[in-house]
Amino acid sequence: MKKILIVGGVAGGASAATRLRRLSEEDNIIMFEKGPHVSFSNCALPYHLSGLIDEADKLVLMSPEKFKAQYNIEARVNSEVVSIDRKNKEIEVKNYLTGEIYKESYDKLILSPGAKPIVPNIKGLDKVNVFTIRNVVDIDKLNRFVKELNAKDIAVIGGGFIGVEAAENLREAGYNVSLIEAMNQILKPFDYDMVQILHKEMYDKGINLIVGDKVENFEENKVVLSSGKKVNAKAVVMAIGVSPEITLAKEAELEIGVTGAIKVDSNYKTSDDDIYAVGDAIEVYNALTHSMTKLSLAGPALKQARSVADHINGKKGINKGYIGSSAIKVFDYNAASTGLNEGLIKALDMNINYDIVRLITNDKVGIMPDAKPLHFKLIFEVPTGKVLGAQAIGLGDVAKRVDVIATIIKLGGTVEDLKDLELCYAPPYSTAKDVVNYAGYIASNILSGDFKQVNVDKVRELVESNAYIVDVREVREFENGHIKGAKNIPLSELRERVNEIPKDIPVYLHCRTGQRSYNATLALQNLGYKNIYNITGSFLGLSFYEYYNDVTTNRESIVNKYNFR
Ligand SMILES: Cc1cc2nc3c(=O)[nH]c(=O)nc-3n(C[C@H](O)[C@H](O)[C@H](O)COP(=O)(O)OP(=O)(O)OC[C@H]3O[C@@H](n4cnc5c(N)ncnc54)[C@H](O)[C@@H]3O)c2cc1C
Repeated sequence: MKKILIVGGVAGGASAATRLRRLSEEDNIIMFEKGPHVSFSNCALPYHLSGLIDEADKLVLMSPEKFKAQYNIEARVNSEVVSIDRKNKEIEVKNYLTGEIYKESYDKLILSPGAKPIVPNIKGLDKVNVFTIRNVVDIDKLNRFVKELNAKDIAVIGGGFIGVEAAENLREAGYNVSLIEAMNQILKPFDYDMVQILHKEMYDKGINLIVGDKVENFEENKVVLSSGKKVNAKAVVMAIGVSPEITLAKEAELEIGVTGAIKVDSNYKTSDDDIYAVGDAIEVYNALTHSMTKLSLAGPALKQARSVADHINGKKGINKGYIGSSAIKVFDYNAASTGLNEGLIKALDMNINYDIVRLITNDKVGIMPDAKPLHFKLIFEVPTGKVLGAQAIGLGDVAKRVDVIATIIKLGGTVEDLKDLELCYAPPYSTAKDVVNYAGYIASNILSGDFKQVNVDKVRELVESNAYIVDVREVREFENGHIKGAKNIPLSELRERVNEIPKDIPVYLHCRTGQRSYNATLALQNLGYKNIYNITGSFLGLSFYEYYNDVTTNRESIVNKYNFR
């Protein structure tokens, strides 16, 4: 019989405990949680603010009593592990209810203490009501405060997943919400060109979204920004990020890694043979950047916990590293991403030769009444075609598409594999050739040099430099909104009007989504044109890309009317 102690009773801790029990009936498993709840749904916390999850108690998935009855696992809540004595293989525990401090010995110790919200010491912090969101107690406190005080103005600081979800749910509950992000965009797993869709959605749904402006200090119920702007806030939700809980590990002189999180080997063993660590507190190997990274995601924490339980029981597995896959709902939109994005490649100054596919297809057969555009971006290596990452945003099912790409990346697949994938199809679910297949076709065409492209983020420059842009949509579509200065030659008239298109300068083609202009690009190339570019994302992508900055910065729009459908 082994005695296994676990620090932290939520995602990683509870998963490790139950897997340990499944592998051995006789081990003595004790889980310590400093908060009052074990095994709650961290990821669902923000949805209590909108009332989607109406009672805070529903966020708690298991009780200590159930752990005992169903798994014979002892879950001690309100019990903080305050130190580790590695030499004597003992921990010291403080019981918050009784004040008692006691020791418990172990054969194996698993650390899954998570990460804590960062609250920087900004001037005037005491002049506002600050909240963070980590557990059920936090969300209950915030929810009660805003309801009881009838606090209408709320500022959320930080545009990461937690900040965006908190802002959305508070807005859904009817509050005036400002979301303040210091960088020029929210949600870094999405590239700047893609995230504009989500910026627009937040703006349209009434969030006062402020990007590229930093909190300078606080005044009485006000957030003061670097720009001088002042934002009213009866409550301030601080969501600028989390930092791994490493105090215990550090004091026990376990090795800390380059990122500041606990260093573990491929079996999640720390620098002590009898101590493992998992979840938000550790650093992991990113199989795409080939560097260590912190990954605050539930899926990886659970996988790691399972691996640790397996390793303790003599089962071996392979650690293939991580690529980072995530999804988020932003009001009516769904968004998902996996692997590398352009922003990360640039931020890490990675020496990768890559190209992108940016396309918009219907998420289901076009004649289905609820078919909606699906915005998709694929990143692949040149010339190998190795798939490196993808992002998808739309009103329908995007996570499924990104999950397919995540699987391809994990299996080391290429764009040729995307072409070959046989995916489920019926009109209510997708198109016979799914966006994932299309992305493979286009990437393959790019790799064989069949055509040249520019992304929507280059169009403003083109318009401002009077580039020759041809809109190949039908006249009626053109009249309903177009790029200023663009010439309209519908694809259906292209061949008879080809002489209107100059041969000696670059010509940029677009349609609504890029499909018809791709056909036009090939037609012109076959007619001897050498300098033709397809504008990927085309008018729909461009409208989404330009809108938020147009309306919030008062700059002149490059389109005379947007099209978002
Ligand atoms: C609001 C929110 C939304 C999220 N949404 C998503 C999502 O949609 N998708 C996703 O993949 N991930 C999401 N996450 C992240 C995900 O919840 C974490 O990655 C995951 O919970 C990490 O698991 P963990 O076991 O490392 O830490 P946790 O689940 O946080 O558990 C750690 C526990 O350890 C306890 N503890 C710490 N120190 C001690 C100690 N010394 N003694 C005793 N107990 C201790 C803490 O009180 C804490 O309860 C979200 C997180 C939050 C906060």
